[in-house]
Amino acid sequence: MGKRIKKGIIASPGIKIGKAIVFHGDEVKIPKYHIGEEQLLDEISRFEEAVAKTVKEITEIQEKITNESFGDLAEIFSTHLMAVEDPIFTARVRKKIQKEKRNSEWIINDITIKFISTLSKIEDEYLRERIIDISDINKRLIGNLQKNKKMNLSDINENSIIFTSDLTPSETALLNREYTLAFVTDHGGKTSHTAIMARAMDIPAIVGMGDITSCVRSGDLVIVDAIHGEVIINPSKDEIDEYTKYQKDIQEIENELAQLTNLPSKTLDNTEILIYGNIEISDEMNTIKSHGAHGIGLFRSEFLFLDKSLPSEESQFNKYKQVAEFFAPQIVTIRTLDYGGDKIHGVMRAPREMNPFLGCRSIRFSLKNQDLFKTQLRAILRASIIGNIKIMYPMISTLEELLEAKKITYSLMEEFDRAGIGYDKNIEMGIMVEVPSAVIAGDILAEHVDFFSVGTNDLVQYILAVDRANETVADLYNPLNISVLRLLKNISDIASYHSKPISICGEIAGDPKYTMMLIGFGFREFSMNSKNMYQVKKIIRSVTVEECEFFAKSILEMKHTKDIENAIAENTKKRFPEIII
Ligand code: PEP
Ligand code: MG
Repeated sequence: MGKRIKKGIIASPGIKIGKAIVFHGDEVKIPKYHIGEEQLLDEISRFEEAVAKTVKEITEIQEKITNESFGDLAEIFSTHLMAVEDPIFTARVRKKIQKEKRNSEWIINDITIKFISTLSKIEDEYLRERIIDISDINKRLIGNLQKNKKMNLSDINENSIIFTSDLTPSETALLNREYTLAFVTDHGGKTSHTAIMARAMDIPAIVGMGDITSCVRSGDLVIVDAIHGEVIINPSKDEIDEYTKYQKDIQEIENELAQLTNLPSKTLDNTEILIYGNIEISDEMNTIKSHGAHGIGLFRSEFLFLDKSLPSEESQFNKYKQVAEFFAPQIVTIRTLDYGGDKIHGVMRAPREMNPFLGCRSIRFSLKNQDLFKTQLRAILRASIIGNIKIMYPMISTLEELLEAKKITYSLMEEFDRAGIGYDKNIEMGIMVEVPSAVIAGDILAEHVDFFSVGTNDLVQYILAVDRANETVADLYNPLNISVLRLLKNISDIASYHSKPISICGEIAGDPKYTMMLIGFGFREFSMNSKNMYQVKKIIRSVTVEECEFFAKSILEMKHTKDIENAIAENTKKRFPEIII
């Protein structure tokens, strides 16, 4: 039997068997030695070769990212290139080697430390954030000077299961999908954006496994069971056979479910439930469409801001146009920039905050950075004549925020009118319901919106005061807490009373275990990643609204989360034994 570790949070479901590659943080050993007079020229050549190799590597990564349609991310590495090739830096290293007769790693590291210490004293947050770039380049350059070079995530060139302490959303976007079978991290939660990216990219992942990186060694054979949240290290032959069969069974169920693509998404009593896609990167468009989605319910536009420079109006316009055109006449709901929390740092000159999830996040950031907000709105408005676009403002917590966001949008429309620029004059504007105050004041907000979309990932964290990305409190982050369920029912009732469409786009919308309950609460529009669409549709097609309402009512009468969990689990087991997640 292999060593079994069971304590992870399933970020993206699936089963993979393969070789582990462990990334132990980024610590790099710096060799320090003196060089004899006769070796000085060789040492300088060694440094020059490492620079050339580093430049080649960065260029290759850039090309690869561009070819994989992640062109928006490629610019991240331009600044790295500029720094490595900087003639002042290279001349300084050469001179120091000759004068001080020390090895290249030692000298480069000294220069870097000095530079970082100067940068860290600077007030400007943006410049201080460049420290991470400088140390990145330092590591890469020193790695290339050493024979046993440390690997980077993007260097992987054979099928591997990645074990690492943590991944940022942008690191996840940069993973080499061709070779990354799965990934497992020490940290992270189910609704962290890293987990969301993994699902979007269809890479099985388990997060929040504590100290998994110290239990696995590179080269170990591992089974990642991201159905039960387990990792099996060096499995026995029987275990490999068992899991290989399991993989096949899952594939068969998925093939069977795929038959549902073109069948209507209607309950047995003929109520249509619309299934939309959540999109982070334009790559996902094809899969979402091929899964029979009704359009895009949530376009997380912040993933266009991963770059080290801000996307121009033109580049945003092209992206929005591309997606709108692709789905027309279906709806594409573009959420304006949701900056902050665990997402998108570096590009904006925002100060670091003690509580980023409670800070200048999302619409608050856009309203404080109106040039940036207007650039985005202009791009969206211009694209709106091409397809069927809706604008969605994220994290609205007060009426004033909503009115301000709308005012800015209307002022741009007036500018467009004066300049004769075309846009959809009837473009709908709605809000994400992600904070309890938006539910509590839902009736007031309803008068000013065309639609609501409930973002449960944040709503749960704000109702329960539990950081969605923090694995140490992950057991407290539970969408089945009665307070959460009551607010979901409340906002659904408010929307219905005010005849405003309401969708649900948090991760629970794509969890088939919750489908009956959510239909019972009154939701008729669900937005999710493509992975779960078939399973959700299968449930929709097997139930009546009446039985869902009955089930939801029984749930709302419960007090204990455990009872609710059991009721949902039992119902799923009884009605849909084939559901795999
Ligand atoms: C949400 O909060 O539920 C949501 C859909 O937005 P995000 O996950 O991008 O914060
Ligand atoms: Mg959110």
